[in-house]
Amino acid sequence: MKVLDPRSILEDGVLEVRGDGKAGGGLVLAFQSLASLFSSLPNTHVQEWPFFSSARRGANIRSFLRVSAKPIDVGCEVTRPVLTLLMDEAAARSADFAEGVPHGGTYVINTRRTPEECAKHFHLSGRVLTVPGDDIGTKHLKHPIGNVSAYVAMTEAIGGLPMDEVVGIFLAQLKKRRIPEALIERNRDAMNATKVSIQSGIFDEARAGDHASTRFEGYGDLPIGAQTRLRLAQNNKTSSYARSGFRLVFADPANACTGCSHCIVNCPEGIITWEPDAERGVRVTGAEVNTFCKLCGECIEICPEKLFTEGKYEEVWDDTHAEEVTK
Ligand code: SF4
Ligand code: SF4
Repeated sequence: MKVLDPRSILEDGVLEVRGDGKAGGGLVLAFQSLASLFSSLPNTHVQEWPFFSSARRGANIRSFLRVSAKPIDVGCEVTRPVLTLLMDEAAARSADFAEGVPHGGTYVINTRRTPEECAKHFHLSGRVLTVPGDDIGTKHLKHPIGNVSAYVAMTEAIGGLPMDEVVGIFLAQLKKRRIPEALIERNRDAMNATKVSIQSGIFDEARAGDHASTRFEGYGDLPIGAQTRLRLAQNNKTSSYARSGFRLVFADPANACTGCSHCIVNCPEGIITWEPDAERGVRVTGAEVNTFCKLCGECIEICPEKLFTEGKYEEVWDDTHAEEVTK
C-alpha cells in the first residue's frame, strides 16, 4: 500500500483536511490554529471553516481546511481529505470520519487506544496517529479537552513544521481570546507532553466499500412532524451527543432531594425522573441518561443539593464481528 504524504501533496497541489468532533470539544480551535499556522508561512493560501448543526454543546460538528501554494478556487466541503481528524470517539457513532479518505490517507485520532486498535476498529488503511489528548488536557489543563494535542498531532502528521512555530501560533490564538497567562503556560506544557505521546503506524484494514463517499441526494420530502419523529427515533438519541468519557450520575444516598423541582423544570430534554412524595411533593430519582441526555449540565448547575455530577464513562467497542472477519 502506498502511503500518501500530506507534505508532498501540499507542495504539489492542495492539501485537504477534515475533522469530526463535538460542539464544545475544541475542534474549531484546533483547525483555526492550523489555519493560522499555515497563514503565517509565505506564499501559502488557506481556507478554513467549521460546519455546525443547530443543536447545542455535544452535537456533532465538522471542520474543513484547504492549504495550497497556489490560490484556492474551490469553496465546497472537503469530501476526499488526505488527512482526517477524529477529535472525539463518540462523534464516530454519528458520522464516518474516514468517509472518502483515499487508500493510504492519514488518520489522527484523539484516543487512549493504540493506532493498531483504531485501524482494526474503524477499518483504516493508511497511516494512523493516536494521541491521548483528553488525558493530556486533564493533566495539564484540568479539563478533558484534546484540542491542543489534536492540533500538535496534525502538524506532526503533515510534517516539516517547526515545533516553536507550532507552539507559538497556538498560544497566540489563546492570547487573542484573552486567556490568562498561567493557563497559556499550561497549554505550552500540554503541547510538549503531546509531542512524546503520539503513536503512529501503517495499517491496511479497510475492506472494499468501507468509507466510500456517498452522493448527496437531497433532503427528500420531510413529512409534517418529521422533526419530532427524528427526535424520538431510537437511533437518533441525543445521548450520543454527550462528550466522550462522561455521563451524568445521580446519587442521593442521604435522601437529600428537597423536591424543589429546579432540575425537572430546567432539563431541556425533560428526562429527569421523579416520584410523588407526601412531604416534598416530588422526590427526584435520577435521569434517563441513555435516552436524550446531552450532558448540558443544567441539572448539575441548578441542584442546590449537588445531587447530579459528571461521572466517568468509557466508550465500549463491540469488535466481535471485526475479529471474526480478521481471523
Ligand atoms: S445534563 Fe441534566 S439537564 Fe442536561 S439533558 Fe442531561 S439530565 Fe437533562
Ligand atoms: S434540583 Fe436537586 S434538590 Fe431540587 S428536585 Fe432536583 S434533585 Fe431534588
